[in-house]
Formats: sequence, C-alpha cells, structure tokens
Amino acid sequence: MLEDSYGRKIDYLRLSLTEKCNLKCRYCMPSGDVPSLSSHKTLSHKEMIKLAGIFSELGIKKIRLTGGEPLLYVKIIPLIRSIRRLKGIESISLTTNGILLDKYLKELKDLGIDSINISLDSLSPAKYKKITGRDDSAKVFKNITMAIDAGLKMVKINSVLSPFIDKEDILGLINAFEDLPVVLRFIEMMPASSLEGIECQGPSAESHSYDIASLEHLVSSLKGYRPTKKVYGYGPARYYSSEAKPLVIGLINNKEEVCFFCNRLRLTSSGKMILCIFSGKSLDLKESLRQNNSREFIAKMITSFIKEKPKNRTIASEGAYENCLNECMYRVGG
Ligand code: SAM
Ligand code: SF4
Repeated sequence: MLEDSYGRKIDYLRLSLTEKCNLKCRYCMPSGDVPSLSSHKTLSHKEMIKLAGIFSELGIKKIRLTGGEPLLYVKIIPLIRSIRRLKGIESISLTTNGILLDKYLKELKDLGIDSINISLDSLSPAKYKKITGRDDSAKVFKNITMAIDAGLKMVKINSVLSPFIDKEDILGLINAFEDLPVVLRFIEMMPASSLEGIECQGPSAESHSYDIASLEHLVSSLKGYRPTKKVYGYGPARYYSSEAKPLVIGLINNKEEVCFFCNRLRLTSSGKMILCIFSGKSLDLKESLRQNNSREFIAKMITSFIKEKPKNRTIASEGAYENCLNECMYRVGG
C-alpha cells in the first residue's frame, strides 16, 4: 500500500489518456492553436498498461480515465480491458465531456465501468458554445440520460463555475436533473495557463460571478435540500440532498480542508506523475521506462516520490498559483 509522509493511504490514480479534445473549454485550453504532442512524447499503449500494472501492484485500487477527452483515445476499450485484468483494481471510472458517449456506452457498461462523470456547464446552446466552442449541450444532455438509463452505478455531472455562468444556468441544470438519479457537482474554477483573457485571478481576487459561498446559499434556499454527510465517490465535495428528489447536489472548492483525506495521484499522457495539482513537482515515468529500468526500480521511484506529496496546498499556497498557470487542465486531466 502506498502511503505518503503524513500517513495518507494513496489508492486512487487519475490517468490522463490524451491531451487531445473535441471541445475547447475556455478555462481549460489555451486560445489559438494547441500543438499536439508528437507520439514519442506520449506514453505508448503498452507503456500505459505497464505503468497501470506497477501502480496496481503498489496498491492503487481505483483508476479514473480522463484527458483531454478520453473517448478520443482510440484504444480506450482495449485499455479498459487490460486494466480490468490487473489484480487489485476494484474500480474504473471515466471523466468525459460526453460528446461521444453514445458510441461507447454499451461497451463501457459491459466492461463494468462503475462511474462516469460528464461535464456540462450550461444547457443553453449559446452559452455552451461560448464556453466550449460547440453548441452541443442538447447532445450531451441526451447522452447523460442514456447513461442513466443504461443503469450505471453512478452518473455525476461536473459543472465549472466560470465567469460565463450565471444563476439561470445553475438553476437550469438543477431543474433539468432534479428528477434524475444523478449527482450534479459545481466546481470552483481553478486557474490554469489557458485562462488568459478570461476573468480568473489570483488567490485573493473575487473571481467568479458565482463562487462556492453564494452557491451554498442558493442551494440551501432550494426547497428540501439539506447538507448530507453521505459521500459520492472519492472527490473533495460537500453534498446536499433532498428527501423528495433523487438529485444530489455537490459543491467542490479548493480549500485546504480537503487535503486531509487526499488519496490521489495523477499520471499525464506524457508520463508525468503529479502529486498535487497545486504543486509543481512531477516525476517523469516515461523516461524511466524508456531507460529500460526494471519494474522494481520504477516502483521504488514511485514509492519514494510519494513521500514528497505536500501536506496541504491550496491556490493560496506559495507558488501554487504560478504552478497552476504553468499547466493546462487538459494536460493534467482535471
Ligand atoms: N474532457 C473531459 C471533461 O471535460 O470531462 C475530461 C478532462 S477535463 C480536464 C476534467 C475535468 O476538469 C472536467 O470536469 C472539467 O470541467 C474540469 N476542468 C477543466 N478546467 C478546469 C478549471 N480551470 N477549473 C476547474 N475545473 C476544470
Ligand atoms: Fe476538453 Fe474537458 Fe478541457 Fe473541455 S474541460 S477542453 S472537454 S479536456
């Protein structure tokens, strides 16, 4: 079992399959052309499976596939099949923008994908297009309902509180999903290098038209919704539920309080292992593989690197804002 210097057990890996995406969300990707990584700079399919295997031997039990857009990774189905075979992996989940979900849903379900997070910030086609570059909100909504109908164990909707979002978008999502068994999570926007030209500021700035505190106020004022201690998944959210409705609402902020139970690691498609989204430290596992190091050697590198996982960091920690600005979310996997 992997354990960091503060006694936290690390059993959750977010694996980013590709930097490519079929959307261009303004808080995630830089404006203008986004150069794609040449194939020798990204992990090969074999390398990805080998690293997933090493992580599972070290005690990783849950793997979430992300990106970029993970459904653009052409070998996603064989990859999931291979990860399924790894001893010790109890759960495989996916974070997707949902555009291609209808094409893959059946196979994903048959492969036992436990939980799918689908990103949708607004149901308004114009607003969705303003944020993502495509007016596909209706398609994503339809694919979310397909996923629910397919009987997946858990369907969550991720909605980023960017400055483009207003009360109407938030209430629109809540109304559309209130009778469905889903978890709708509103996520505080994080700074990333892609944010040039949109209003996201440093730690002390008032950055969003809707911040988590005002959203908390809004959700508490909804008839029947009360805070619940029940946890949905492994993310750092606070949840609200209602006895009258199946919808659960989650609020995710980037405050220090969530670090106490952080159990996660990230691996990018270029093979960089990242310990914390607010820390600039990373370990290049691709290079280590390509130097023909043994599994045991790489496992030792990982185990000792874990000890550098910071105790607690937020966007307000020294250097964190700059580190975030050095990375784009589509690289890190969110
Ligand atoms: N393309 C997939 C998607 O959008 O769900 C997976 C990758 S995306 C980077 C993973 C998650 O990160 C999404 O839920 C997305 O909304 C979130 N995300 C991207 N940029 C963000 C930012 N600046 N702040 C907070 N969340 C962000
Ligand atoms: Fe693509 Fe997801 Fe980033 Fe949007 S948030 S640009 S869908 S990777």
